[in-house]
Amino acid sequence: MIDHNFKKKFGQNFLQDKNIIKKIANVCETNKEDLIIEIGPGAGALTEELVLKSKVLAYEIDKDLEEVLKEKFKDYDFNIILDDFLKRDVKKDLKDYDYKNLYVIANLPYYITTPIITKIIEEKVDVNKMVLMVQKEVGERFSAVIGTKDYSSITIFLNYYFNIKKEFIVSRNAFYPKPNVDSIILSFTKKDNRVKVNNEELFFKLIKDSFVQKRKTLRNNLKQYDFSKVEEILLKNNLPLDVRAENISLEVFAEISNNL
Ligand code: SAM
Repeated sequence: MIDHNFKKKFGQNFLQDKNIIKKIANVCETNKEDLIIEIGPGAGALTEELVLKSKVLAYEIDKDLEEVLKEKFKDYDFNIILDDFLKRDVKKDLKDYDYKNLYVIANLPYYITTPIITKIIEEKVDVNKMVLMVQKEVGERFSAVIGTKDYSSITIFLNYYFNIKKEFIVSRNAFYPKPNVDSIILSFTKKDNRVKVNNEELFFKLIKDSFVQKRKTLRNNLKQYDFSKVEEILLKNNLPLDVRAENISLEVFAEISNNL
């Protein structure tokens, strides 16, 4: 155990279980020509495995970890930016690197899971695959199946960009300090052929509005829209007119937004 003043405000729960760490690092097949972005290396438990496979660019907000990390990985192709990942211009940072494929592999700080993923998407960082550890309940939502209680607007938003796979569950006992929740490893593989959406802004707004009150019907949630245009698509897809958002697929949402 390193001599470190653990900071709850930065979501610092460090991985202790070597088998789990190896398993996470092996979800992606990466090689020496590839670059892995690691967000929040902490004391470098996962980084230790990543530097053996590929070049690593790490972002760590806690400057107290600078010395440990720089010393530990001085003989590897490893760089660290000691800053808040959310404040970085990642594409600009990447200009200094030559690489074949780009990956993000991280045990995320859970207080900013969605902002981190959204940033990577919105800033169009061209990532081939992400392997992310997130809180189990959050991961269930990200990877939810249509018609289940976890299926929500974030599910559709993320599935528009990625094929999301549940890799494995990680018990809270694998960390120090031990968190109050279990975790899950998800892999996000970039979709080469996204569903066709004419106006992404409208599409994302439609999804958000459709789930505003989950127990209500789509018609009730979409009062401000021209519902006859929504109905046309529901009928075309043999969906009942009192359908709820949780029973509408990504493809049908795309069709609805393209018809509005
Ligand atoms: N990767 C390490 C491990 O698995 O043992 C640590 C994971 S810990 C859950 C999350 C890490 O993210 C911490 O080291 C924390 O300091 C760092 N962190 C928190 N907020 C951050 C931010 N905004 N930008 C970069 N790193 C951040």
